[in-house]
Amino acid sequence: MTFNKNLEKSEVREYFNGTGFDRWRKIYSKSEEINTVQKNIRKGHQKTVDDVVSYVKNYPELTTKTFCDAGCGVGSLAIPLLRLGIKDLQVSDISSEMINETKKRINELGLSQRKIKFLTSDLEQLKGLFDVVICLDVFIHYPQPVAEEMVRHLCDLSKEKLIVSFAPYTPILAVLKNIGKLFPGPSKTTRAYTLREKGIINAANEKGFIVVQKKLNQAPFYFSKLIEFNKVK
Ligand code: SAM
Repeated sequence: MTFNKNLEKSEVREYFNGTGFDRWRKIYSKSEEINTVQKNIRKGHQKTVDDVVSYVKNYPELTTKTFCDAGCGVGSLAIPLLRLGIKDLQVSDISSEMINETKKRINELGLSQRKIKFLTSDLEQLKGLFDVVICLDVFIHYPQPVAEEMVRHLCDLSKEKLIVSFAPYTPILAVLKNIGKLFPGPSKTTRAYTLREKGIINAANEKGFIVVQKKLNQAPFYFSKLIEFNKVK
């Protein structure tokens, strides 16, 4: 299958500014009524967020560190990061609706006094240098070569650490996906890709990053491999 990266990105943007926005806003909320599949996705995703928070809270000199959350969604990670007292945070997403929702949630919680930059942007257009760059559950929308390019770009933005999560390729997941069970309901309007871990790790290695720890988080209908990388000094 040929993949037109720009076309695919504009479809992803359109989805997350439209039907996908409402669907994922509900999944990534505590109180909204959702179906059982979506509840499981919520539960699995929360494990990923909680793990990242547990990694970050042990970083030395956290209050001096700058963070970039690329593809931030509704701010599910941004909010706990701000509560940890990090120095500053850039949140970005290809969807302006997602960025508006993140802003709204941060404001409602009174966390806006911290230094935060909100950007509507494709992650491959991001510039700058941050101590820590994080990108959770975004690569699922892109095939292996694009996800690897994204990893290389994110490495270029990071001075110390990169944390990513993605749906890992396993033969069993490939079977489930093929019979259409993995991403039921309206999410079928975007393609979902599972990725080979080795390719993701190799892409980061090429840029001088090595694996510190990794973990598979799962719940029915949610599979996400979380990897923390350190830049080799
Ligand atoms: N990272 C968030 C989290 O874990 O809560 C959101 C995950 S959600 C499944 C995927 C998000 O990636 C959506 O908000 C979508 O708009 C965003 N996204 C997809 N492609 C992107 C790209 N090329 N650049 C930036 N954000 C992107």
